[in-house]
Amino acid sequence: MAYPIAEIVACLENLYGVPEWKPRNSPLEELIHCILSQHTSDANSFRAYRRLRERYPTWQAVVDAPVEELAATIRSGGLANQKAPRIQAVLKAIHAARGKYSLDWLHELPTPDARKFLLSLPGIGPKCAAIVLCFSMGRPVIPVDTHVFRVSWRLGLIPKSLGEAKAHDALEAIIPEPLVYRYHVALIRHGRAICKAQNPRCEQCPLRDFCAYYNNLQDSSLRSE
Ligand code: SF4
Repeated sequence: MAYPIAEIVACLENLYGVPEWKPRNSPLEELIHCILSQHTSDANSFRAYRRLRERYPTWQAVVDAPVEELAATIRSGGLANQKAPRIQAVLKAIHAARGKYSLDWLHELPTPDARKFLLSLPGIGPKCAAIVLCFSMGRPVIPVDTHVFRVSWRLGLIPKSLGEAKAHDALEAIIPEPLVYRYHVALIRHGRAICKAQNPRCEQCPLRDFCAYYNNLQDSSLRSE
């Protein structure tokens, strides 16, 4: 089945503009920030990341810090008692693999191998791996957050029952590589502005013709008339 991915992206970019990919951080910086961003807002995770980098001049200093001290440092990111030992475990695993605190060598690997290594790190799931590959390395990998997942299943591109973790592979199978980053950004913008979790504003949406959720609602309201 051919999915109208290019049309969906074009409609949304008419509304929100075309995003330009630029590397945000090194792969390791992106990974550590991703751990801090789990289950909290961007503002809180950026604050926690800034405090971590201000307090510890090197990644070795993060590993050597008492875990309670590290947790106190990143407290503003939430779940600090889980995230502090996870950060230390991830840093130790990276050092054990390559003898240095760096993931820059991932640039030399094909995407499946780079993803496999990231997923082998303690506590790192498909979304964090995808964030590193997409945002830091420019690979055609789609991070599936709550907005990307919700808008994708409402459009009928994936079943809701799939869940966010398995949606990574399913969406990558149907989105053309050159559109992966643009699709990701467009759906996040749309999920925040119009296709909200509660009460999507379908009357303002340019995707109604493509949308299974909207068209099912129309069909059921016609049947009940
Ligand atoms: S038509 Fe409604 S449910 Fe479908 S994508 Fe647009 S806002 Fe979301």
